[in-house]
Amino acid sequence: MERLKQCLVSACLTGLCTRYDGRSKPHADCLQLLTGFQWIPVCPEQLGGLPTPRPPCNLVNGDGYGVLAGTAQVIDLHGTDRSEAFIRGAFMVLAIAQAQNISLCFLKSRSPSCGLSPLIGVTAALLQHHGIEVVSF
Ligand code: SF4
Repeated sequence: MERLKQCLVSACLTGLCTRYDGRSKPHADCLQLLTGFQWIPVCPEQLGGLPTPRPPCNLVNGDGYGVLAGTAQVIDLHGTDRSEAFIRGAFMVLAIAQAQNISLCFLKSRSPSCGLSPLIGVTAALLQHHGIEVVSF
């Protein structure tokens, strides 16, 4: 039997309750697409050490590339700088992708970690920078 191609996917898109508010965000089209893959769910914010639930965060002074470069920040609702945890989580996701030789990732839109727009998130930026294709849901 032919082995399915592997991919990573934002954990919350698969129905896992990893979001800042302790909920999930299952996406029917994404779940349908995943039937053709062997997929690994990842939540960069949890992998970075943040709890669930957690205060929502925003990108400030730039995008995910800026956070990685040290010119932008991820700030939570209370004004605490969470950039370090976001960067740590992004590198954890990258390590999983590289260890499994994965070159495709389905990520949740409108997230300071996983989003591609309106601003690219920290994990999405790091994966793109390392040549991993990111598809947004
Ligand atoms: Fe979903 Fe990504 Fe947010 Fe985790 S960091 S809850 S995977 S959007």
